[in-house]
Amino acid sequence: MRKYQIYINGEWTGEELQTLAVTNPANGQLVGEVPYAGEVETNDAIDAAHTAFQSWSQLTAFERAGYLKKFYQLMLDNQEELAEIMTLEMGKPIKESRGEVQYAASFIEWFAEEGKRVYGETIPSHVHAKRLQVWKKPVGVVAAITPWNFPAAMLTRKMGPALAAGCTVVIKPSSESPLTAIKLLELCEKAGFPRGVVNLVTGSSSKIAKAIMDNEKVRKITFTGSTEVGKILIRQSADQVKKLSLELGGHAPMIVLNDANVDVAVKGAVASKFRNTGQTCICANRIYVQSGIYDEFIEKFATAVKELKVGDGIDETVDIGPLINQEGFEKVTSHVEDAVSKGASVVTGGKAIRDESGAFYSPTVIKDVNESMVVMQEETFGPVAPVQKVESAQEAIKFANSTPYGLAAYVFTENVAKGMQVIEQLDFGIVGWNEGAPSAAQVPFGGMKESGVGREGGHEGIEAFIESQYVAIGME
Ligand code: NAP
Repeated sequence: MRKYQIYINGEWTGEELQTLAVTNPANGQLVGEVPYAGEVETNDAIDAAHTAFQSWSQLTAFERAGYLKKFYQLMLDNQEELAEIMTLEMGKPIKESRGEVQYAASFIEWFAEEGKRVYGETIPSHVHAKRLQVWKKPVGVVAAITPWNFPAAMLTRKMGPALAAGCTVVIKPSSESPLTAIKLLELCEKAGFPRGVVNLVTGSSSKIAKAIMDNEKVRKITFTGSTEVGKILIRQSADQVKKLSLELGGHAPMIVLNDANVDVAVKGAVASKFRNTGQTCICANRIYVQSGIYDEFIEKFATAVKELKVGDGIDETVDIGPLINQEGFEKVTSHVEDAVSKGASVVTGGKAIRDESGAFYSPTVIKDVNESMVVMQEETFGPVAPVQKVESAQEAIKFANSTPYGLAAYVFTENVAKGMQVIEQLDFGIVGWNEGAPSAAQVPFGGMKESGVGREGGHEGIEAFIESQYVAIGME
């Protein structure tokens, strides 16, 4: 078992600190230990990032792209090791972990190039003796706080644009899955990033967040995680009016209409719902199926779900790994129990698989659910697919929008006009139309309402790390 360190100003450090155990959710075994850092180490990391900012921000975008491209290549060269670390620390099936490493690397590649396209503007003047310009500047030191469910991709989706824009970063990964992030920083070191450009602390989230919030050198916080913690950060960042980007929780509806191709809808539902054991922010969390195809959809969906194999994610043949922890397991169990107690019936699954070491839940389809059930109101974050019968597209849209969340939604219909009409009425930042896996590096990802502020990925993704500086030039 390895004892890991934190990375500050180009040095691996923190061996004198108390440690935090990282365990494999599939079997409870210790995978590693990381330092339990707090305010002192965080301020050291911020100081290093602040000093490094002076020179990193002065490099050309082409020079910064050079470092990012080396990092990108190293991620691909180390795909297998990264994937294995990820599976061991947070349970993701190994084939999905490999896919995440590629997806995570794609953000580094995309933003290495996108940094070269941060254009300023010249605006026509209203008088002869003036020139009006907009210059673009990196925002400064960025603090990046990331969740456990995509330990690589949620980090590179922030690091890529921040570094390409000329910012330096202090990273705080989730305590559930810090080892993937540490391995990524080892690769940054190999790629030759100058000292202080990337820094990483692990440990007490509240102490680290306090140091970030109290330190005026940090100008931007980019966070992915729960809406609950996002709201805390909004309040805490008010004192210094720090810039915030927030990628928060979801509660994605999937609408399947009578004119859908049912096989396509089933494939989309399986892909969206059961990826990462149902622990993604854009998981189809509630499925509304129109009455004309309800029975056919349920039957085909349940048949497909029964094929999914549950087990330790390190096994190549496994589709559904463990839940991240006891709390996650209890939430899933209670959502199913609540639905069944209110009249829903389990079509397949519905079984907790719990031994003394790991917490698994069988992939589950429940039918005849309604909006009184918790599973239709909250993010389940587990392999449970509740299906509700609706009579019309309009009824489905009403249910879909009746949530404070607005991250992702899915629509299945072969009727183009109807598809467009439905999507126009959905208050969600991402829509998969006949598609269960909408994410990519080159597209804007983010939520409406309580699902977040801003977008990551695409050309919008770099804007979060750029300030516009308007310059009026007198010519007399
Ligand atoms: P979380 O509990 O909110 O934690 C996210 C990060 O915030 C972790 O690094 C955590 O550190 C840290 N944190 C916890 N309390 C904090 C505090 N008071 N101040 C500052 N930082 C704090 O979320 P999670 O359970 O890791 O992730 C699952 C959630 O993320 C779900 O709601 C999911 O929908 C959402 N998510 C959203 C997106 C998106 O793109 N919109 C993507 C992925 C996940 P510790 O682990 O050390 O406590």
